[in-house]
Amino acid sequence: MSIPFNKPYFTGLEAKYLSESALSGKISGNGAFTKKCHDYFENTYGLNKVLLTTSCTDALEMCALLVDIQPGDEVIIPSFTFVSTANAFLLRGAKIVFADSSIENPNIDPAQIEDLITPKTKAIIVVHYAGIACNMDWIMDIALKHKLYVIEDAAHAIDSWYKDKKLGTIGHLAAFSFHETKNIISGEGGMLVINDNNLVDRAEIIWEKGTNRAAFHRGEVDKYGWLDLGSSFLPSELTAAVLFAQLQNLDSIQFTRTKIWNLYFELLKPLESQGKVKLPGLPSFASNNGHMFYLICRNNRERNNLINFLHKNGIQAVFHYLPLHQSPYFHKKHDGRKLPHAINYSDCIVRLPFFFELKNEEIKKVAEKIIEFFE
Ligand SMILES: *Cc1c(COP(=O)(O)O)cnc(C)c1O
Repeated sequence: MSIPFNKPYFTGLEAKYLSESALSGKISGNGAFTKKCHDYFENTYGLNKVLLTTSCTDALEMCALLVDIQPGDEVIIPSFTFVSTANAFLLRGAKIVFADSSIENPNIDPAQIEDLITPKTKAIIVVHYAGIACNMDWIMDIALKHKLYVIEDAAHAIDSWYKDKKLGTIGHLAAFSFHETKNIISGEGGMLVINDNNLVDRAEIIWEKGTNRAAFHRGEVDKYGWLDLGSSFLPSELTAAVLFAQLQNLDSIQFTRTKIWNLYFELLKPLESQGKVKLPGLPSFASNNGHMFYLICRNNRERNNLINFLHKNGIQAVFHYLPLHQSPYFHKKHDGRKLPHAINYSDCIVRLPFFFELKNEEIKKVAEKIIEFFE
């Protein structure tokens, strides 16, 4: 019996809400289920102002529009991330300045940020890798000092914390993903969080193709028109219906996922003590939201051998990001800095099977096989 890397989890409410939405006769965006999701995030979950989007990528593109990126503006982004983190800003003509990861974990190294700031720098984008918080006080201090925006790519970071603050509540803006590889899913899907109240009105206009249609629907204006740049960033009600089903089960999903994470950690700790692998490092200010479990091998060859060995044993383990500064698209645009930690994480990380329905016996089998490999 083989163990896949991911298996999307359905709570059982999705089909009910989907048919409710279809039978309502209105499935375009910003309808009843979108409002239920917005209400949940703003009033139960504790975010300031949110807008569902069709993806996290779209939410990041909205961020680039909202902070008004102009051609030549510089944006500091970790190299060890998904392409969307950078693409969203490149689309607006930004110059991407890639930063290295830190030594403790794949998150951006705050100690290196200030050296990258120039008079053209406009924003720092942070990624909370595996849902583990970046050092936000430090990063916000740098941003305040240099008058920069901070945008959290919180694609991995639902229900995770930095000290007593939820991730996604700290930067000026944040973007979440509900892609089916994340903790809470709607197929494709995402969300923009607007913490800077100066950006709220414009966010809603950009969301609705550059028009004030949302205000029109609330009866605040008697006609709507074209006011700004924008695009079609809002998801259909069908997407929101699936998301709402998931949100009603957020606590149980998170309970189970953190249990899986803790079991992996406990079973694999001896390997770390023996110096054979490194396990995810949790800084004292960070919580763990059970987004993924990864190991860091000692070198690239050992990592690839481990993935092959697990594969032969019916276990699908995978590597992760290729550093963006070395990508075929970007390497010629990069300024030549080495970014060794990003390369090391890319070479040495293995992600283990991780999904809601993963059974204890399966977790034990994965751990046993990893231990066998290192023997
Ligand atoms: C998944 C992911 C994204 C993109 O999310 P989509 O919803 O698929 O657009 C962006 N950034 C990071 C770090 C991700 O893991």
